[in-house]
Amino acid sequence: MYLIFKIRSLIILSFVLLFSFNGCKDFTYNQNKLAKNSEIENFGIVIHGGAGTMSREEMTKEMDSIYRKKLEEVIKVGYSILKNGGTSQEAVEKSINLMEDSSLFNAGKGAVLNSNGEIELDASFMDGKTLNAGAIVGVKTIKNPISAAIKVMENSPHVMFFGKGAEQFSKMQGLEIVDPNYFFIQKRIDELKRIKLKEKKSSFVHDELKNIKYGTVGCVALDKKGNLAAGTSTGGMTNKKWNRIGDVPIIGAGNYANNKTCAISATGWGEFFIRNVVAHDISALMEYKGLKISEASKIVINEKVAKLGGDGGVIGIDRNGNIAMEMNTNGMYRAHMNSKGDIVVKIYSDE
Ligand code: ASP
Repeated sequence: MYLIFKIRSLIILSFVLLFSFNGCKDFTYNQNKLAKNSEIENFGIVIHGGAGTMSREEMTKEMDSIYRKKLEEVIKVGYSILKNGGTSQEAVEKSINLMEDSSLFNAGKGAVLNSNGEIELDASFMDGKTLNAGAIVGVKTIKNPISAAIKVMENSPHVMFFGKGAEQFSKMQGLEIVDPNYFFIQKRIDELKRIKLKEKKSSFVHDELKNIKYGTVGCVALDKKGNLAAGTSTGGMTNKKWNRIGDVPIIGAGNYANNKTCAISATGWGEFFIRNVVAHDISALMEYKGLKISEASKIVINEKVAKLGGDGGVIGIDRNGNIAMEMNTNGMYRAHMNSKGDIVVKIYSDE
């Protein structure tokens, strides 16, 4: 009797093992199938090179084409990273590095000067999958601030590093450190002189600030795995005072990414973007109110920021590859590529 019982248990056990082995195989197979099919179709990338008062009359044909060519070059590099299976983080970092290295924009080389005639750079990055983020503030010697922000996110227990500490950390991380003079270009020196002259005449430069072309750079991307990322890098605003910190390194103000909703990068008068918590507000309107990225961006930029007297714009991409390029200024350097390889490059708001 006991033997029969034993044999019966052994037979049952072998069936159980056989089934679970097959089950495992099926599961692994399904997982692989899922991994293969989990590549989303609508990946995409958007970049900006700053918003502001830009008129066709002021812009020479030559400068117009120089900007458009640069935007096209950058977006194509970011796009090809995504197309070849790279991550949204890689696409954002590389695209921003190219704009930081170009003196056309107010980030990295060619950044604007503060009221002491120095250059202080800010940048931030956010990963939409993990909600990890990194930022650096007021640095003077890091060649590519966006890469430093990414290192803060990846290799430190913190989110934001300031000044000398940020520079020391970046050096330890093997990032390129340059002499502060590397960032200076004559155009920015002249801009500061001009604004200082006006400042002497009037008590404060509120109206002058309104006429500023901002020039911060940013990139948002959705990769084939469905992960969103956002990065923003800047020199801040010309003639900024006393170690002023703008919206760019503040997660949720000038930069935000969340796989549930969207990735956003902003440009404009930073103080208003901080007070409106712009990038996070767009995400929140999508998450809690179910708005589309275009609707949410319009409300935040054209109603909320504008109502307080601020100006600027945002770029964004959502988890389905829908994009927004919204501004309340008459221009924003911007470009977009979708998964089909369609490319859009624009400067003026009425394009
Ligand atoms: N938002 C930046 C700042 O306030 C300026 C810009 O967009 O160019 O620092």
